[in-house]
Amino acid sequence: MPVNQLTTSVPAWEAVDTGDFSEVVAELHGDSAATVLVIALDHGAEQLTDELTRALEKPGRTVLATSLYVSGVDAEVQLDDWLSRASTTWRFVLTGAPAAIMWARARLFAAGAMSEEVHSISTAAERVRRVFCAHCGSVQTLPVSVGDTYRCTCGVQVSVYYHYSVRQGGYLAFEAE
Ligand SMILES: [Zn+2]
Repeated sequence: MPVNQLTTSVPAWEAVDTGDFSEVVAELHGDSAATVLVIALDHGAEQLTDELTRALEKPGRTVLATSLYVSGVDAEVQLDDWLSRASTTWRFVLTGAPAAIMWARARLFAAGAMSEEVHSISTAAERVRRVFCAHCGSVQTLPVSVGDTYRCTCGVQVSVYYHYSVRQGGYLAFEAE
């Protein structure tokens, strides 16, 4: 299935090469944001976060870095705590595996962040994705690619569709044909 980059809702960060953050740095260089918060969402993102933090520094800007592992029990509490301190002059850079980024993006957008305020750098080409079932509404994290089919916990055989829901933080899955 071909992807039209102009109309697809598949996140652009899918195309970012592992560890290549030059595009995000260039974008943020032209941004007047007073504070940039870099969030490592798993162990694999630690080194990248260090390098990124240095690359993002510029006069008049505060660059903060934190580790907030999605696997941790208090990840939601920690993220909400950062969000309560954030203002409209903040920008967020999320680093980690795709599923972790999807989770954090959904939470940031639910808290009112605008898409231009959130940047994502995937550190892994791992195929694990969050998928939202259109039939039962459940969200599952599965090793699937767009176009794959699987049996949802609700019993319906669904296929992963080329539609990414920002609100759900996952790909939409419909009943397979
Ligand atoms: Zn389902």
